[in-house]
Amino acid sequence: MNNWKQKIEDMYQSKAKRKAEQELTQETQERAENLKAFKNWQERFKCHICSKFPSGPLVIKEQWYGGEIWPEATYWDMPIGMGKCVTCGKWACEDHIYRKVCQKCAERL
Ligand SMILES: [Zn+2]
Ligand SMILES: [Zn+2]
Repeated sequence: MNNWKQKIEDMYQSKAKRKAEQELTQETQERAENLKAFKNWQERFKCHICSKFPSGPLVIKEQWYGGEIWPEATYWDMPIGMGKCVTCGKWACEDHIYRKVCQKCAERL
């Protein structure tokens, strides 16, 4: 290959490499941000008695309902395995909530 053609090859290769590197950094950043947002979310819905975190939000798969297709939906206000106490309004894990009343409120009954 001619020298000048090789130079053009090199230019394209280094351009592609830089682009791939940039994309990778962006991806890592996005993933870190998502993780941080998820941790914040868990913090918001953790059990106020034992500090247990919810595993994730409730996800309802695509379903056929009422003659319509409902797309998959994520309910960020419904953490899995957690319940909101009707008395104090705080979140508690399954071990610390019974019939929508948390253990702390039950002790004050
Ligand atoms: Zn708990
Ligand atoms: Zn309570």
